[in-house]
Formats: sequence, C-alpha cells, structure tokens
Amino acid sequence: MRIANLSGRLALLVDGLAVDVETASDGRFAADPQAVYERWTEFRRWAAQARLPEGTAFEPGRLGAPTPAPRQIVAAGLNYRDHAAESGFALPDTMPPVFTKFASSITGPVTEVQLPPGGHTDWEIELVVVIGTHAHRISSDTAWDHVAGLSVGQDISERITQLEGPAPQFSLGKSFPGFAPIGPWLVTPDEFDDPDDLGLRCTVNGEEVQKSRTSDLIFPVPELIARLSAVVPLMPGDVVFTGTPAGVGLARDPQRWLAHDDELVSTIEGIGELRQRFVARP
Ligand code: ZN
Repeated sequence: MRIANLSGRLALLVDGLAVDVETASDGRFAADPQAVYERWTEFRRWAAQARLPEGTAFEPGRLGAPTPAPRQIVAAGLNYRDHAAESGFALPDTMPPVFTKFASSITGPVTEVQLPPGGHTDWEIELVVVIGTHAHRISSDTAWDHVAGLSVGQDISERITQLEGPAPQFSLGKSFPGFAPIGPWLVTPDEFDDPDDLGLRCTVNGEEVQKSRTSDLIFPVPELIARLSAVVPLMPGDVVFTGTPAGVGLARDPQRWLAHDDELVSTIEGIGELRQRFVARP
C-alpha cells in the first residue's frame, strides 16, 4: 500500500492515482495525513478491503510529507561503514550517535530550499522509517511489525552550525527550514521483496554523489528501532532517519557545498524520489 499527503489531505495511491481517504471512507478516517498513524492497524484493515473509487492524477508539487507533524524525529549518524570511515570516526558498536531534526524543518518531496548565508550546506540521502504502532522496549524480531512504512528523506545539513562551538550541534545544523524533505509517499514494508536491501542514490545537477544499499547499514532498520526503543518509546507517526552512506560534501577533497541553483535528486529503489532546488536567501 502507498499513501500520500496531497495538498494536506490523506490519499491512497492506486496505480499512481490518488484516492481521497476521507471521502472514500465516508468520513471514517480524517483528511489529516498525520492522524492516520494513531489508527494504523484499523486503517490498513479498511484499506485492504475497501471498494475504492477511481483515483485522480496529480502534480508532484502538490505532495506534502507523508508525516507532516510527527511528535518525534529521531536521526541516526554514522550508520554506514563507508560514511563513518570518510568522516574519520570509529564504528559505533552499541548505538549510533542519535540527534533530532526539529519538526519545523519537514517539507514535502519537491521544494525550493533557501541556503543559510555563509553556510556550508551538504546533502545526506537517507531511508526514512515511519512508526505505525507504539514501540517501547521491543526486540528486533518484532520491529518491522511496528513500522507503518518507508519513505525517502534528505538530512540536509549546514556544517558550520553543526560543527562549531565546544560540542557539535547536530540537531541545530540540520534543522533550518526545508532541511528535512520526506516523500514522495509512504510505502508499506510488504511492498518490497526485501525491505532490508534497498538501493539509494543521490545526484547534484545530475552528477551522482552518493550510491549505496540499505543492506550496508551497521544497524539495520529492525536493530535500530529495537535499540532506540530501549530508551525512547516510539509513537505512531514518529519519523526515524536511518543514516547516510558515503559521498557527502564534507568528506570530499576538496569539500563541496550546495550552491545557488543546484538541484539535488534523491532516489530509493521501490519508493521514489525527492527533488530540491537550492537558492541563495534573498
Ligand atoms: Zn544524517
């Protein structure tokens, strides 16, 4: 199943066309895309047997994030070996470094992002996991059962803010407006042959800068969810950014930053793509 946020309303996608959920369910499920996660099990049951009207075509620019207002966003750093190596860090052995991206940084999949003046703005393609049912102190064996679905995320990062001062400011440097595009929609785990092995890739102006597979994650999705849930109860609709592979601008020689008019395209196999254009702040 695929669900989308279309102009702020929850939609089911059927063969690429959008069916408005509130209308199709006669008001049983609200239009608010964030609200559906509170009733995820009930929604999935309904969607599996509902007789849906024919959907309508839509422009990608109308898509919002499938989780526009989660209560929590948890992001993992250094969760791919090659990225930990290029960053000059030892591999995490019990837990990757964890930070948040503040919810105000979330946007839909097709956006224009203002560059913080004087900043070093960088890309990080990431698989995003959305929680479907409350997960607290769960084991990795059951973790996928708590996942509503997967989406593409960009953990856009301004490296000066992130790294200056006596201790790194990961959460701040990664939370400028527009720095957490998510989309283009949410895909449930059963849609994938193997949800633990998805190709991901991003390009800047058509040039490939990151390419990997989620099978290279140090803490794969079930392990990451289980370890996070040992500390933080994960709630329906919460968002987990799972980490980025090698190829970020910070680790390049010479270093490379996003500039005015650059276009960043981020793709994950079986899900879809994000498209960001960067502009100097006027
Ligand atoms: Zn990241």
